[in-house]
Order: sequence, then structure tokens, then C-alpha cells
Amino acid sequence: MSKTAIITGISGQDAAYLAHFLLEKGYRVIGIGRSLENNKLWRLVELGLLDKIEVVSGDISDATFVLHIMAKYKPDECYNFAAVSFVGQSWVVPSVTMNINTTGVLNLLEAIRQMSPETKLYQAGSSEMFGRPVESIQNEKTEFKPCNPYGVSKVAAFQLVDIYRSAYNVFACNAICYNHESPLRGMEYVTRKITDGVVRIKYGLLKEIRLGNIQSRRDWGYAKDYVEAMWLMLQQPAAGDYILATGVTHSIEEFLSTAFELAGISDWRNYVVEDERFFRPLEPHQLCGNPQKAKEQLGWKPKVDFSNLVAEMVRADEQRILRI
Ligand code: GDP
Repeated sequence: MSKTAIITGISGQDAAYLAHFLLEKGYRVIGIGRSLENNKLWRLVELGLLDKIEVVSGDISDATFVLHIMAKYKPDECYNFAAVSFVGQSWVVPSVTMNINTTGVLNLLEAIRQMSPETKLYQAGSSEMFGRPVESIQNEKTEFKPCNPYGVSKVAAFQLVDIYRSAYNVFACNAICYNHESPLRGMEYVTRKITDGVVRIKYGLLKEIRLGNIQSRRDWGYAKDYVEAMWLMLQQPAAGDYILATGVTHSIEEFLSTAFELAGISDWRNYVVEDERFFRPLEPHQLCGNPQKAKEQLGWKPKVDFSNLVAEMVRADEQRILRI
């Protein structure tokens, strides 16, 4: 019999790639989202998945809804991506961030405990939990020092997963995901803002890209690689927590020069303008993850490196512009 998976946050990047991955493996996929107008589901449309999964409208911060869903589907696996996932936004709506990112996870754990104790849970944690890290390269034992509402909400969720695992034996795993990008990344993130902007500049549709702190560095991986690791986590004999990262960082300046070069534009500095609006009140210090545990225990490693990631994003945005 085929397995059933629930994916929350179905309108997002990771949910789309994971849905594709699970469908290829023969899973029945139920997608849950807060607002499911067709324009929000553009990622499922791009991957040709809209008619292959069952989509349910609902909010994981509503405990009654989560209990109902868990009782109805009793899924083999539940992947939680529902979140205020953009750090910038978490400064604007900190209370909504806590409700969805923390209380939502508590609701999932309680619903599993009460209604479907065999369900395995994947919880999407983030490198932002390390915030101002005490070690330059972080691993699963590094202390959390979040520095924004998003990071705090994810630390609390991480700890709830840990508690439910110990107290109730729920099979629940935390990933600590470093930034992972793709052509399906939202335009509010700096990588997609750049690749879309570069292509628009190339075709004369835009004059400049306005950015905040371009000295900032990130450990950027490829989202499609990361969803495979998420699935592998739930196939292990015991639940655990894993860093998903490349172990290499690059600055936004490097991202800019690579993207402009790929588009055939020589000096990126002529097209980039500093804009106060895009600076953050507090920035995490260098976040770089050590993916050794995932490599050893899951047999996983990221396949797409930085330059190939930028190339794929620029290529996809160019195809989109040429289709318009
Ligand atoms: P995050 O790591 O999840 O916050 O991912 P983002 O892509 O939103 O931001 C990555 C880094 O890019 C952060 O250090 C931002 O401060 C920096 N950054 C600089 N300019 C921009 C911008 O215009 N938009 C965004 N989103 N980030 C920017």
C-alpha cells in the first residue's frame, strides 16, 4: 500500500520540491496551506503538480483544525513547512510568527500524540536558531543564540520536538536548514531578487537593483538537494536532528558578481544601489553549517554547488522573462 504524507506550507519552495519527490516515490500527498488562491500555488503549477496532490485549506496555529486533519488522514509522514519563513517579515509580525512557527508545531505534536502516534514528523528548523553563533562553523551541538523573532520561534519549536520525542516517544526530527535556494525561491529573498533583477537589467526592463547589506555571507545550498535529506531523516531507524548545509559560505557581493557575469554584464557595481529599507535591525553573524552528521548517518551530500546554483536560477529567470 502506498504511503500517505501531509505537507504543511504547501505553497512554499520546499513543499513543492518535496511533493514532487514523494509523488515520484508513489506517495499520496496531502498539501495544507493557509491561503490557496491559484496565484499562491504557482510553484505547484510550474512543476505540474496541482492536479496530483490533494490540497486542504487550513492554519496549523488552529489546534482544532490540526487534530481533525491528523485524525482524518493518519499520515505515515508529516512534513512541516508552514511558517512565517522570511526573517525580515518576522520583525514586522513577531506575534504571528510565534503563533505559526511555534504554537503550530506544538499543535502538530499534540495531534500526533492524541490521534496518530505512528505518524513521523519532520520539523523545518533553521540556521537562524544560531543567530550570533558561539562557533564559526556550527554543528548539532552548538548552542542556540537567536537574534530575531523568527530564530526565537524556531528554537522553541525545536525544543518542543525534542521534548515530545523524549516524553511521548513521538518519531519527530528537526532539521537545521541553512539557506537553500532555487528558481522557485520567493522574490523577497536576496538570491531570487538578484537573479530576477539581473535578467531584467539584461533585457532593459530594469535599471538597478536596490539592496541592503551586501557584505553579508550565507551558506547557500540547492533546495532540491535538501528535500531528499528531509525524506531520508524520516526513513532512519531512530528520530534525530540534523544540520543540512553545504559547509561553504559566500557573500552577497559574490552572488552579484557571479549572476551578472552569467548574464554577460561586466561591472555589477554600476547596477547595484544601497537602500536603507533593506537593512535589518540585527544581522546574524557568519552562519556556516557542518553537514557531517547528515553525510555519515543519512548518506546525503549536497550535489549542486554555488556557481551551478546561481547559473540555474539565472537561466530559469531568463526563460521566464522570454516567455512573457
Ligand atoms: P535569510 O538569511 O533567511 O534572511 O535570507 P535573505 O535572502 O532574506 O537574506 C540574506 C541576507 O541578504 C541577509 O543578510 C540580508 O540582510 C541580506 N540582504 C541584503 N539586501 C537584501 C535585500 O534586498 N533583500 C533581502 N531579502 N535580503 C537582503
